[in-house]
Amino acid sequence: MSIVIFKMKDVLPKIFNLLIKRQFDFEFELLPYRAQEIGFRKAANFFVAGLNQYLQPERPFGYPVIAQVEPVNYCNLQCPLCLTSSMTKSRKPALLSFDKFQKFIDDCGDYLLHLILWDWGEPFLNPDLCRMIAYAKSKGIIVHTSTNGNVPLDDAQAEALVDSGLDSLVVAVDGATQKTYEQYRQGGRLDVVLSNIRKIIRIRESKRSGVPVINMRFVVMRHNESEIPLARELAKNLGVDYFTLKTVDMNPQTGVELDEIYAPEEVHYRRYEYDGNSFERKQKRFVCMRPWKRITLEASGEVIPCEYDYLNRYSLGNIAERSALDAWKSAKGKDFRKAFNLGHNDFYLCRDCTYKNSVVGDCVVERQVMRNEK
Ligand code: SF4
Repeated sequence: MSIVIFKMKDVLPKIFNLLIKRQFDFEFELLPYRAQEIGFRKAANFFVAGLNQYLQPERPFGYPVIAQVEPVNYCNLQCPLCLTSSMTKSRKPALLSFDKFQKFIDDCGDYLLHLILWDWGEPFLNPDLCRMIAYAKSKGIIVHTSTNGNVPLDDAQAEALVDSGLDSLVVAVDGATQKTYEQYRQGGRLDVVLSNIRKIIRIRESKRSGVPVINMRFVVMRHNESEIPLARELAKNLGVDYFTLKTVDMNPQTGVELDEIYAPEEVHYRRYEYDGNSFERKQKRFVCMRPWKRITLEASGEVIPCEYDYLNRYSLGNIAERSALDAWKSAKGKDFRKAFNLGHNDFYLCRDCTYKNSVVGDCVVERQVMRNEK
């Protein structure tokens, strides 16, 4: 779900490394990351922003530690459960310009540990993606992105990706055969995805580079769970670094009875627990810290408090007109957090939040190391 970054029991043993060695180890979606050469501002902000979890002030302490940026808000596939195929369609198609991205990173990059470079759309449709990654890397930020792998990469593009310094790349492969794969990744071609993976690995090896780490991601659903062993074998043959199994995101806003159709038979792969034989989700305690630790930039340039505000109803301003840090501390942001504290279920974006009632900490249930961890 979210980066485990503010839990004191996890942080305390790492304080020495952060303050003296200026490095910080963390996990995101079960993959290990190490932020190094952390500047003073980043380290200090990490501690100051950590106070937010206890006090949840309307005006947050410090600045965001994580950013999520949407390079583009449309996609080349039509996956039935993705909000890009339904709920976000009312947005004007937008491609984030490099200038807006640069301004955003110039504003808040000194405070960020981690950049998640995706949201509602296929990131590789933005021709400036590698330039953006390289720019964020120049600010010492851990960067990772995710792709459906259906934008064919030529050698030069794969080389630019390796040279960008991207830390990790999730490639969605939810099937080991075209027939199963295209049931969900509608319009997608598995051969294109596999060819892209092979190309990136070949070029990465020719450059003797350790990055990007390739995470072959299998979202487990009813129709594809039987292909997990085959997909695992495929991952091994391809030479990816990790093979991970992720629970499926079934946002109630995309329709009813989704759980009944898509929830895997195997309980271990489910995101939710159900009542008896029904598909009624059991209620679970859920604490969301996103409005206090993560800032989100949409392809249109709007700065929002959470990526699930896909209609940008709570825009804190456009990056072309105000700084990301001003937006973070703005009166509108304050109003958002105040209302959130009073009961976030009143917000359309939180009421049906996919993380609510989840029994899986990070949405990912299994990680298998396919190559040696570095
Ligand atoms: S939709 Fe609301 S509850 Fe869910 S992650 Fe976003 S801010 Fe948190």
